[in-house]
Amino acid sequence: ALTIGIVGLPNVGKSTLFNALTENDALAANYPFATIEPNVGVVELPDPRLDRLAEIFGSQKILPAPVSFVDIAGIVRGASEGEGLGNQFLANIREADAIAQVVRGFTDDDVTHVDGAVDPASDMETINTELILADMQTLEKAVPRLEKEVKGKKADPAVLAAATEALAILETGKTLFQAGFDTTPVRELGLLTAKPTLFVFNVDEGVLTDDARMAELADLVAPAKAVFLDAKVESELIGLDKEEALELLQSLGQQESGIDQLARVGFETLGLQTYLTAGPKEARAWTIRKGWTAPQAAGVIHTDFERGFIKAEIVSFADIDCHGSMNEAKSAGRVRMEGKDYVMQDGDVVEFRFAL
Ligand code: GDP
Repeated sequence: ALTIGIVGLPNVGKSTLFNALTENDALAANYPFATIEPNVGVVELPDPRLDRLAEIFGSQKILPAPVSFVDIAGIVRGASEGEGLGNQFLANIREADAIAQVVRGFTDDDVTHVDGAVDPASDMETINTELILADMQTLEKAVPRLEKEVKGKKADPAVLAAATEALAILETGKTLFQAGFDTTPVRELGLLTAKPTLFVFNVDEGVLTDDARMAELADLVAPAKAVFLDAKVESELIGLDKEEALELLQSLGQQESGIDQLARVGFETLGLQTYLTAGPKEARAWTIRKGWTAPQAAGVIHTDFERGFIKAEIVSFADIDCHGSMNEAKSAGRVRMEGKDYVMQDGDVVEFRFAL
């Protein structure tokens, strides 16, 4: 599964948030792999469509798509020079598919800030600088090597050109993700700042209803997405049942938990989407990449489904929702048979036909 690495300066609330992500006992049963690695937390992608499908198909169980987060030990200034746990830190980020950067927005005189003051913009810069410096080191080694290889016709000049351009962008202080730079030609270099990134502002609960302040913080990180939460509130939500949790959230002017928002935005940041299956046993969301074809999507359920793919019977969620049953949707001509070139759409409700 693709994972999102949680990073941030010390004392910004990473552990508090991560505990809220992992102490979610209900999940352990559905996602057994979640308990294997102590630093991995799995949360469910909230999806009300599954409740509706379970109602229509009489499904006993609902299985949302899992979203995995990995806790990456604290970064410090100087990480790119191997300070502290620097090298390990960078190696762990390299393995993540996306980055969630936790930024401290809460004020609390009892909790020391490593740089002396709560200043989200400066915190982000500290982290970005370490990642940018690490990538510059990688590229400064790669460029001369690529130059030699291009001369000897052992490397594609396009790769050298991309590496040179990436270095120039980093020198301006921007991450490659912020610059929207296509790093496909230099993918083998595993550049850290190319990873899709989202920002988690850990703020005082009052900020959660302060739209002007949130817009200000969101502007700091655009075009990356921002999630706003209070890690302390998130940890209080763990022990509560659904109704109590909703009550607490509503008393703070919230409709859904920060962790639900984080799952949603994280999933989007990874560039993923879901399709749905439903039957008497379960209503389930399956994770695919945007642009995948029907046979590729079938392969997520079982590799045999991809190999033996014949066709897919598909109805959009909107259609089955409005017609209320598969039969009604069929009579209305809303159920389609799609072949192997069909590109999956978000919310397709699917039954695959395959031969083994
Ligand atoms: P980490 O070093 O980034 O993992 O930070 P921790 O999660 O250990 O949090 C550092 C300290 O800040 C702890 O004492 C937390 O209880 C406190 N803390 C974390 N989140 C919040 C928050 O949203 N509000 C307040 N007031 N304190 C918080």
